[in-house]
Amino acid sequence: MKRDYYEVLGVSRDADASALKKAYRKLALKYHPDRNKDDPEAEKKFKEASEAYEVLTDDEKRRIYDQLGHEGLEGRGFDPGFSDMGDIFSAFRDIFGGGGFGGGGGGRRVRRGADLELRLVLDFMEAAHGTTRTVPITRSVACGTCDGDGVKAGAKASTCGTCGGRGQVAQQMGFMRIASTCPTCGGSGEVVKPEDRCGTCNGRGRVRETEDIEVKVPAGIDAGIRIRYGGRGEAGDPGAPPGDLYVLVDVKPHEMFRRDGQDVYLTVPVPFPTMALGGEILVPTVHGDATLEIPRGTPSGRVLVLDDEGLEDPRGRRGRGDQHVQVVVDVPRKVSDEERALLEQLAELHGDRVQKKGWWDKLFG
Ligand SMILES: [Zn+2]
Ligand SMILES: [Zn+2]
Repeated sequence: MKRDYYEVLGVSRDADASALKKAYRKLALKYHPDRNKDDPEAEKKFKEASEAYEVLTDDEKRRIYDQLGHEGLEGRGFDPGFSDMGDIFSAFRDIFGGGGFGGGGGGRRVRRGADLELRLVLDFMEAAHGTTRTVPITRSVACGTCDGDGVKAGAKASTCGTCGGRGQVAQQMGFMRIASTCPTCGGSGEVVKPEDRCGTCNGRGRVRETEDIEVKVPAGIDAGIRIRYGGRGEAGDPGAPPGDLYVLVDVKPHEMFRRDGQDVYLTVPVPFPTMALGGEILVPTVHGDATLEIPRGTPSGRVLVLDDEGLEDPRGRRGRGDQHVQVVVDVPRKVSDEERALLEQLAELHGDRVQKKGWWDKLFG
């Protein structure tokens, strides 16, 4: 059973256009889906209020509804229901942006709030494992005292005298007429007398507010990725949705690991005997130490791959990346007498003339 449209908007049966607008704006702001994420009850209320408003501001539909109720409208082929949210949003824009109020013509536009961008710098490991950061965001929000219209309780906005409520003024430029936003009312078509302004926001309809926002960073996030928080940007004009908040992620370089997408790159020094004879070494990865098998006779500079030891896909579509380990011969800066003796023995065995004639001499000598 459908609720009575006047009851939905909470207005009397003789409510005029301005009372309907005020009531609808209040409900629309309260139940707007941008402010009520994943709340089907709020969405229902938003739709219900939009429908009631749509019918009661149409003279013919309102007359039929007053006489015959919901059945009367349906019986005459009016379908005031909106099929989806997209319809409502376009109606919503038409309602607050199409010049249906204040007796004006077209040209009035309500602006959606501006987007905000926040840069978040993460350590390499924070980005690798994901993190949650609480960040204070200062933004303008609709004033709670006046519900965003800037008018003191009991007072009313009046039609702007400069533009006659159209929100636009025309200027003669030579033989052309150029329409521009009305400088007096800023395009809203309405002005509020200084004594009627809301005291909290001084008539602006918005107040600055600092709110802690919890930013959830998924594991594996890379520099340059933007995380969007719908509806957390600046407040829009009364009736228009707020902007979005974008968190732009930056990642500091690591002293050891480098990354390319989900793959991690690392260079590791390995003792010559292990490279020559083969063996296992422990290699750091972003997930902890992993065992890397060095095949016998591995040349210095070769890249070995540790499967699935790279980074997570921040979008969760793919598995982990790999870790690419470049192994280079670890040449000791200092050797003990015993090591020196063994190395000389090895060199002698190979017929290398150590120091007296090294590979340099062989090449150029
Ligand atoms: Zn104006
Ligand atoms: Zn206010």
